[in-house]
Amino acid sequence: MRLISLKGLQRQAGAAARWRGHRLRWSTIHGESRTIRVGVCRYCEAQVSIRTRVLPNEIAIGGEAVALNCPGKMAIRAAFDAAHYDAARNRAPITPSAVRAAKVRG
Ligand SMILES: [Zn+2]
Repeated sequence: MRLISLKGLQRQAGAAARWRGHRLRWSTIHGESRTIRVGVCRYCEAQVSIRTRVLPNEIAIGGEAVALNCPGKMAIRAAFDAAHYDAARNRAPITPSAVRAAKVRG
């Protein structure tokens, strides 16, 4: 069995989640014999958990954040695009409030 450190697993899981548009906030759960780290997306709350000493019915990296794209990030991107479109049409500068307004409008 190939052993990867928790730090190495976190780097891999973080890269996969980032590729899917998530932005993770990590926390640590200390168990009796091992430590599990859980990353939660700031945008959509999808999770990824990583663990060393993997049991036969577990995987080292698992969770929605590495399996599914981030809908929260996509909504922010769509709002940003809409604000750019409005700004181009109105010849107005793009401001954070314009992005928020576009987001509310959907
Ligand atoms: Zn997300």
